Amino acid sequence: MRKVIIAGNWKMNKTASEGRALVEALKPLVAEVGPECAEIVVCPPFTTLSAVVEAARGSNIKVGAQNLHWAESGAFTGEISAAMLREAGVEYVILGHSERRQYFGETDATVNARLKAALKAGFKVMVCIGETLEEREGNRTEEVLARQLDGGLADLDAVTVSGLVLAYEPVWAIGTGKTATPEMAEATHRFIRSHLAARFGKEAAEQVRIQYGGSMKPENAGELVAQPDIDGGLIGGAALKADSFATLIKNAIAGSRKK
Ligand code: PEP
Repeated sequence: MRKVIIAGNWKMNKTASEGRALVEALKPLVAEVGPECAEIVVCPPFTTLSAVVEAARGSNIKVGAQNLHWAESGAFTGEISAAMLREAGVEYVILGHSERRQYFGETDATVNARLKAALKAGFKVMVCIGETLEEREGNRTEEVLARQLDGGLADLDAVTVSGLVLAYEPVWAIGTGKTATPEMAEATHRFIRSHLAARFGKEAAEQVRIQYGGSMKPENAGELVAQPDIDGGLIGGAALKADSFATLIKNAIAGSRKK
């Protein structure tokens, strides 16, 4: 059984004080979610990380960053290193989010370089992949995902891959209110797992956790996570309020029990 992982991607939202308040409000709402049941992660902007790490200490809420640079240090204005994130108390990292790919020139090669640096430094990584609307309508979804997987995970071995979390996020569903139907999302997750099996072996592919992301809400989280190959969610908008995020987490866990 793969453990459910629900992560909130706060994007460029929440100052340090707002982030602390959100985590303080979330803690009692998810206090009964045991570690055997689900992993809960919040991923604030860099300047909010330390406040959120402090607020989450001793609770079942883990903290992740939204990026990590491949170099140890140096002339990389606007970037953040593994050592900086480690000292801030971060455990998880999101890499290759479609907004990074779309607006900031992220490529499969840079995702791969970031991923290798993050793994070397011992972070748990959520690697995002997903097709645009044009690619889906042009029947190119599988080709695009295969390219992102092959490039993003280049040079990794099966044991390393088995410990990864992938986030399948159809770009047309992010922040748009349009969700892939559970059946559509499941079919794509199944393709991702079969592609991983072909490249890294069945055993590794069965262990990789694949989150769905794209307008996941309390209302659809249960149905999505009830699908056999959907192991959790990466959530934007619905993670910005404690009550909606807590309800989403509980509904996702209830959905996972129907598998
Ligand atoms: C995301 O940014 O990863 C995301 C899925 O956003 P939203 O839930 O708002 O669609």
